[in-house]
Amino acid sequence: MSFELPPLPYAMDALAPHMSENTLSFHYGKHHNGYVVKLNTLVPGTKYEGMSLMDVIAESSKVAADKGIFNNSAQIWNHSFFWAGMSAAASAPSGRLAELIDSSFGSMADFKAKFLDVSANHFGSGYSWLTFEGGKLVLSSLGNAETPISSGGKPLLNCDVWEHAYYLDFQNLRPKFLETFFDTLVDWDVVASRLAAIEKDGSVAVY
Ligand code: MN
Repeated sequence: MSFELPPLPYAMDALAPHMSENTLSFHYGKHHNGYVVKLNTLVPGTKYEGMSLMDVIAESSKVAADKGIFNNSAQIWNHSFFWAGMSAAASAPSGRLAELIDSSFGSMADFKAKFLDVSANHFGSGYSWLTFEGGKLVLSSLGNAETPISSGGKPLLNCDVWEHAYYLDFQNLRPKFLETFFDTLVDWDVVASRLAAIEKDGSVAVY
C-alpha cells in the first residue's frame, strides 16, 4: 500500500489574501505532494513497507542511512500538521491555552515577540515549533524536515519557514509572512484542541 497525500482541510483559496491560492497550489500541490511521491519510490522493498507513516518517521529517524526516508515521511506529517493549524476563521487563545501562554511567556505580546524572534532567526530551511513540555509551552526551531514527534515531543503548532512557504507572497520578507501567519492564519481553536488531547492522554495528530 502506498502513502497518499492527505486532503487539504479547506479550499485552495480559503486563506487568501493572507496565504494566496498560488502559494497553496505550489506548496500543497507540488511540494507536499512531492514528498509523498518521493517516499513511495523509496519505501518499497525496505523494512518500512507496510508501516504507518507515524512508524516510518519514528523508525527511520534512528537510522542515519535512511535519512531520505525520514526526510520525506516527516515532511508529509509536518505539512499536514501545518495546514491543519491554519484557517480563515478569526480566533484567539482563551481558557487553558491563554493561561499557559501567560505562565510560559509572560503575556500574549511576549509570546508573539518570541515566536517572531525564533522563526525569523532560524537559519535556512525548517520550522518553528510550539510544543508542550513539562507543563509549559516552549518555542523552538528545527532544521529541514526535523520534527518533534520523532523524539516523543508534543507539538501544538508549527510554522513552515522554508522559502517555498512565503516566497510567492512575500518574496524575501520572512518577518512579514510570520506576522501575517501569527495574526491572521493560526487557528487557535485547533491549537487548544491539540493541547487538550495531549493533556488528556498524550496523543498527537496522526496522518
Ligand atoms: Mn513546506
